Amino acid sequence: MVHQIAPHKLDNQYKPRPPKADDYIFIFAKGQFYLDCTDEKAPRVPTLSDFAEQKLPQLRYLFAIDGIAFYLAWEGDITLPETYKLQPTFALFPMQPGYMGFAGLTASHIAGWYDKRRICGRCGAKLVHSEVERKMDCPECKAEEFPQINPVVIVGVTDGDKLMLTQYANRPGPKHFALIAGFAEIGESFEECVAREVYEEIGVRVKNIRFYTSQPWAMSGSLLAGFYCDLDGDGTITLQEDELSEGVWVPREEIPKQDVGFALTAEMIEQFRINQFPA
Ligand SMILES: [Zn+2]
Repeated sequence: MVHQIAPHKLDNQYKPRPPKADDYIFIFAKGQFYLDCTDEKAPRVPTLSDFAEQKLPQLRYLFAIDGIAFYLAWEGDITLPETYKLQPTFALFPMQPGYMGFAGLTASHIAGWYDKRRICGRCGAKLVHSEVERKMDCPECKAEEFPQINPVVIVGVTDGDKLMLTQYANRPGPKHFALIAGFAEIGESFEECVAREVYEEIGVRVKNIRFYTSQPWAMSGSLLAGFYCDLDGDGTITLQEDELSEGVWVPREEIPKQDVGFALTAEMIEQFRINQFPA
């Protein structure tokens, strides 16, 4: 999955230090990154050394991978060469080192949070960054804002040798099977969330809810928690049609092989297909 970057290691603790020449800068605007596109076929993430001639503003420390730090800047903080172009996150995935896609996703999650935490939600004063941790403080009313992570469950619902595969409604493009998924609500456990989402989306009850694994998922600012569970009782599907266009029990031998590598959903479908999932 995209966050599995071993033998490299993401050190996500907030440990600012003076930037070094080979540290990277993610320069954000409109949810995208400025990349150096001097070679259009091989864009690259800028490093501090690219701006050696400029007096830079104080850059926001993000995290480090293998001792190389990543910093955040916003469009307007830095004078950019003409070869720099705004690129979506997926432009980072073919890059070397191979962890750059995950670094970009993680940076975009943090940047998106900073972007929405400029003003105190309680008193309206301008927030300032804590010096010791990733946190925004209100100097007036002392409110604290910590990075926000929205928990999501991904659910493999099984009925013996069949797995419930769904398709989202209103999504253009090729047919793409998914699993039941949804955001955890305030006041419920993951297990309660699993049972509720399954009932809402396909109208069946489940039992034997067991955890599989988790994955940080920056696209929705989430931490995904993957669960398998078994059908309890009648398997007749009542589809929540504003969310799903299809929900079908698919026998194991008819499930297409998944191209795992990126997302938890594909891995969970594949683990069921090869019968390597927690019983
Ligand atoms: Zn305040």
